[in-house]
Amino acid sequence: MKAFSMLINGQEIGGGLPSINVINPATGKTIATIPNGGAEEARIAVDAASDAFQTWSSLSAYERSQFLFKWHKLINENLEDLAQTMTEEQGKPLTEAQGEINYANGFISWYAEEAKRIYGETIPASNSNKRIFIHKQPVGVTAVITPWNFPAAMITRKVGPALAAGCTVVIKPAEQTPLTAIKLAQLAKEAGIPEGVINVVTGDAKTIGDTWLQDTRVRKLTFTGSTEVGKLLMRGAADTVKKISLELGGHAPAIVMDDCDIDKAVEGVVAAKFRNAGQTCVCANRIYVHESIADVFSERLVERVKGLKVGNGLDENVTIGPLIDEKAIEKVQRHVDDAVKKGAKLLVGGKPQTGLFYEPTVLVDVKDDMICMQEETFGPVTPITTFKTEEEVLKRANDSIYGLAAYVFTENLSRGIRMSEKLEYGIVGLNDGLPSTPQAPFGGFKQSGLGREGGHYGLDEYIEVKYISVGLE
Ligand code: ADP
Repeated sequence: MKAFSMLINGQEIGGGLPSINVINPATGKTIATIPNGGAEEARIAVDAASDAFQTWSSLSAYERSQFLFKWHKLINENLEDLAQTMTEEQGKPLTEAQGEINYANGFISWYAEEAKRIYGETIPASNSNKRIFIHKQPVGVTAVITPWNFPAAMITRKVGPALAAGCTVVIKPAEQTPLTAIKLAQLAKEAGIPEGVINVVTGDAKTIGDTWLQDTRVRKLTFTGSTEVGKLLMRGAADTVKKISLELGGHAPAIVMDDCDIDKAVEGVVAAKFRNAGQTCVCANRIYVHESIADVFSERLVERVKGLKVGNGLDENVTIGPLIDEKAIEKVQRHVDDAVKKGAKLLVGGKPQTGLFYEPTVLVDVKDDMICMQEETFGPVTPITTFKTEEEVLKRANDSIYGLAAYVFTENLSRGIRMSEKLEYGIVGLNDGLPSTPQAPFGGFKQSGLGREGGHYGLDEYIEVKYISVGLE
């Protein structure tokens, strides 16, 4: 079993500290340990990032781009090892882990290119002896706090644009999945990215987070995780008025209209629901199917769900890995039990298996007052409810404090566009169950977050706009 270290200022740190076990959720076995860092390590990471900022931010965009491309190349060369590590610490099937590494690496290459396009502006002045120049500068040291469900992509989606803009970062990966993060940072070091530009601190989340919130040298916080912790961090960031980007919980509706292509809709819902065993914030969490096609849709969905294979993500053909921990299993079971108690019918699944595995589940006759229609389930459960009209379903779909992703399945283009525009969500998959991609802006309306990640919008989050007003002679 390997003892991993933190990476601070290019040094492996943490030998003398107590350690935290990293557990494979598929087997329950400890696969590695990480140091239990705290305020001291969090502080020295900011020292390093703050020093490195001076040189990193003054490199040309072309130089920063070259470093990012080298990192991208090394990630590619190490794809198999990274994917294997991810499956072992997180549980997702190996093919999904490989897909995630590719997706995650897509952010590095996209921002390596975009680094060169951080253009300023000149604005016509109202007076002929004045000039107005707009100059773009990096925000500064950025704290990056990430969740366990996408151990690589949640890091590169933030670190790619941050580095491209000229920021340096201190990262606290999720305690459940720190190994992929540490390996990515080691590859960045191997790529020659200077010491202190990327620092990884592991250990007590609250202590590390609070240390960074209080430090005025940290100018920006970017977080993906629960709405609850996001709100805490937003309050904490107020004291030093940090810039913040938050990607929080979702509760995605998938709307299946009567004029859809049913097979396409089934595939779309399976893709949007069962990826990562239902543990993504854009997972379809509530399925609204037009009453006229509800029976045939449910039947075909059940057939498809019965074909999913639950097991250790390293085993061949497995499509559903374990959930992350016991609490996740309990939550899923609570949602299913509540629905069944209130009258929903189980068509397939509905029970945990040995360990942290849960049967892929389809529920019908679901009503809006059931917990699964109110809260994010974060598990392989598909609750199906019916509706009569477009107006009714839009109202029900929008009736949520969340606004991250929504899905619509229809073959009627006008209707599809009309509905996409009316959905109060930051991302709409129109006949598409997998909309995430590095060049598009990912982020939520309402309590699903602030800011966008991906594409040129994602770069703006790490840039300060400076207005230089010049008075001529
Ligand atoms: P999840 O429920 O998906 O685990 P969390 O919001 O609890 O989501 O965790 C997301 C990230 O936030 C993790 O890296 C976790 O360690 C970190 N975290 C949790 N609580 C705090 C906190 N009080 N301050 C800073 N980071 C935190």
